[in-house]
Amino acid sequence: MDVEKFNLPGLEDKRPIVIAGPCSAETEEQVLETAKQLAAQGVKIYRAGVWKPRTKPGGFEGNGLDALPWLQRVKKETGMYVSTEVATAKHVEAALEAGVDLLWIGARTTADPFAVQEIADTLKGVDIPVLIKNPVNPDLDLWIGALERLYNAGIKRLGAIHRGFSSYDKKLYRNLPQWHIPIELHRRLPELPIFCDPSHIGGRRDLIAPLSQQAMDLQFDGLIIESHCNPEKAWTDASQQVSPDVLGLILNNLVVREMNQTTESLAALRRQIDEIDMSINEILAKRMRISREIGQYKKEHDMAILQTNRYDEIIKQRMAQGQSMGMDPDFMKAIFEAIHEESVRQQSEIMKYK
Ligand code: PEP
Ligand code: MN
Repeated sequence: MDVEKFNLPGLEDKRPIVIAGPCSAETEEQVLETAKQLAAQGVKIYRAGVWKPRTKPGGFEGNGLDALPWLQRVKKETGMYVSTEVATAKHVEAALEAGVDLLWIGARTTADPFAVQEIADTLKGVDIPVLIKNPVNPDLDLWIGALERLYNAGIKRLGAIHRGFSSYDKKLYRNLPQWHIPIELHRRLPELPIFCDPSHIGGRRDLIAPLSQQAMDLQFDGLIIESHCNPEKAWTDASQQVSPDVLGLILNNLVVREMNQTTESLAALRRQIDEIDMSINEILAKRMRISREIGQYKKEHDMAILQTNRYDEIIKQRMAQGQSMGMDPDFMKAIFEAIHEESVRQQSEIMKYK
């Protein structure tokens, strides 16, 4: 893929490229007020959802066509470029007609090759920058496939947005970052600009600054951040939006370091270690939860906590399993003895209480 730069006149060629604006275009006043405040913070590309894909029916699904003239006013009155999410041929046609400068494809849409192809077909012969969010599921090929569909339709000004991946077990993040996936995307398509969307990864205002810093440390090219003139009152994604003032502070506090090839790959490897350690913690916590359930069962059935046979079997089996994966059996023994000891301690706690 021979991807080209965005080439939006007036946009400086420096990291991060910032796109900011509300999750949804709610009212003309909210769209304009937010835009003016963001322009004052130096933001050059405005975002606002006009068509909103919602998990369940009944929520606010966007103002659709009515909101497009509001974006035109933003362009005229602030000089910012405007962008919105498109998911169907009709959306694309209406957005182009309204003079929207940049389009993005949402995470749910990227996961649907029919929809992506429909968008690509509608954009044939049009020269506009398009950003593609990762699919909701952690499937790098599906993400690259969507980029290829657009590229094959003649869209050369392409970019990717990393917005995290959904998981059944909701933890700290609304969508797990799984940083190794965008890192691998960068390895496969080194020319492709990658944006981070800390708002949808974190799902929480206070996670935007650390996630944005992480993205800068990983050499991402840009950030797309949800910002609203009255974040607490936002109709969608209220908990993750920040006021334009706060956004300004977050951007000012970012430390943007340029790395050479070697430090970049060292940082990427360390990030992978951080992520793996987090998974180890989550898995250990899950094991302890199950172990406490077993404790409860033993209590109800008047069984002893320590079942020697089971213990010997666990240690022996785990040592062999670890060895077959190239790990030292003594190391495996030490780890599983420690885990087992903690399980026994937690089960004894359960026995103590009636
Ligand atoms: C959005 O950007 O408001 C949005 C709907 O995001 P995503 O497609 O990442 O869920
Ligand atoms: Mn949103």
